Amino acid sequence: MVTRRQLLVSGCRVLPVVVLGVTRRAAAEPAPASAGPADPKLIEDLVAANRILVDQGVLDGYGHVSVRHDRDANRYLMSRSLAPELVTAADIMEYDLDNNPVDARGRTSYLERFIHGEIYKVRPDVKAIVHHHSPSVIPFSVSTAALRPIYHMAAFLGEGVPVFEIRNAGGLTDLLVRNPQLGRALAQTVGQHTTAIMRGHGAVVVGPTIVHAVARSVYMEMNARLQAQAMALGPVTYLDPEEARKADASVSGTYGRPWELWRRKALGK
Ligand code: MN
Repeated sequence: MVTRRQLLVSGCRVLPVVVLGVTRRAAAEPAPASAGPADPKLIEDLVAANRILVDQGVLDGYGHVSVRHDRDANRYLMSRSLAPELVTAADIMEYDLDNNPVDARGRTSYLERFIHGEIYKVRPDVKAIVHHHSPSVIPFSVSTAALRPIYHMAAFLGEGVPVFEIRNAGGLTDLLVRNPQLGRALAQTVGQHTTAIMRGHGAVVVGPTIVHAVARSVYMEMNARLQAQAMALGPVTYLDPEEARKADASVSGTYGRPWELWRRKALGK
């Protein structure tokens, strides 16, 4: 059963759709099989990731982060519908790549979970995904200014940042990636990139580890803020594509350092 607390947490506007979706499926076919318990360290990293992304101003009461299951590439792990700062290990649910929960036990799912499964399906290299509404990134989703790397910490942006125009996939919507078709369209826009901006909404960031996905999300937000400041001053010198490639190769190997700091603060140990 869905508890009163979950109803309040999920928000009444979106809940009926989620509940109907789950109920319809449960009646039609059994839930997918579990891949078994995930590595507790992975679960702890996922909990930490949720809190870190709030601490760093990337997530607020919305947005989510997922990680591919360590025992089965066809499963991923993500919190139930909950403000990221409140996520604990008990809130982590397992999903198949069609975004069906393995063992919902009355817990509601994020409405936009389709972002995750549809990207995992087409990107075997991706092991973690963040969907955020990072505030400094939003202006770049609605203006003609492209988000580009202005410093080495966000060098991964040098590969280009596609913009997902949901009107092309779904016409005039509520902007939410609320079904498999929109999830597939977004995954197509991401392509082989590390990130895509979602017009009038936010962004998605992927990585080969949860550390990469989190660090890239943090430095994407910082770059967006700094780039807007630099643009206000006058013409901007961006990283040359060659500089960006070299800087990303050297920086991305060092994400473990800020991660350990963020993780310790986020978990209080
Ligand atoms: Mn969203």
